[in-house]
Amino acid sequence: MIRLMRPVVIAANWKMHTTPADAGELARAIAARTAEPDVTRVICPPFVCLAAVRDALAGVAPPVAVGAQNVHHELAGAFTGEVSAAMLRGLAEWVIVGHSERRRDAGETDELINRKIRQAKDALLHVILCVGERLDERADGQAEAVVRCQVAGCLAGIEAPSLADRDVVWGDAPWLAIAYEPVWAIGTGRNATGADAAAMADVIRDTLGDLGFAARGETIPVLYGGSVTSANIGEFLAEPAIDGALVGGASLKPDEMAGIVARAALTARARRAGNPTPDAAA
Ligand code: PEP
Repeated sequence: MIRLMRPVVIAANWKMHTTPADAGELARAIAARTAEPDVTRVICPPFVCLAAVRDALAGVAPPVAVGAQNVHHELAGAFTGEVSAAMLRGLAEWVIVGHSERRRDAGETDELINRKIRQAKDALLHVILCVGERLDERADGQAEAVVRCQVAGCLAGIEAPSLADRDVVWGDAPWLAIAYEPVWAIGTGRNATGADAAAMADVIRDTLGDLGFAARGETIPVLYGGSVTSANIGEFLAEPAIDGALVGGASLKPDEMAGIVARAALTARARRAGNPTPDAAA
């Protein structure tokens, strides 16, 4: 079953926290506390900390990938203060796009995010695309429609790399992961339920199927994000449709990351053994 072969990904979004002076030490502490070979770990510090985190994680085994939190939609030009995908080469292997804080604060639209994904893909960066509804949209019964529209708009006309490219160029890590992050759950301490997240993962895969992705994008991991902690990660990873988490606040705490990745490793190992969840393996 393809579904069980999706990697389990835990990505840390440090947002506007840490400095070049302290980011490396934090990255190393998290790497040491989360050394699970079956889990794909990604740390996304601020741009100015990328080099420090890359250097701190060099040679760490099992490896921890470095990601950026944003990328510009043009390759180069008169865009003061911006960072292009080409500039990230050698600094980051992954990039987050479409985070709701950027949609809110920088007015990013699905069309703009679509252009960012194209740039990132051309630069061979692995992409974490964030989607999710606001509280008023959920209250209006629009949550599914909003997420469907975001996925369709952000990925319109973008093709998955060929199978051959995927192996040679992208390696074991997926070229794309989609993080379902309900806006009302981000940084609020109020998380969605595992069942809600799984239902939205199904909506996302339906939309991927409509876009022409093979087998409803069954190889593309869908992560949950929104107030994830070591105490609630199990609820999400008990859902076969959920393949990991994008973690904000808790990702700055090595103890929290240790608990989150330890739980993720249980799911990853169960999948390797052909079971959708650790419970199903019991
Ligand atoms: C995020 O920044 O993507 C996020 C989910 O934040 P938090 O875990 O703090 O809600």
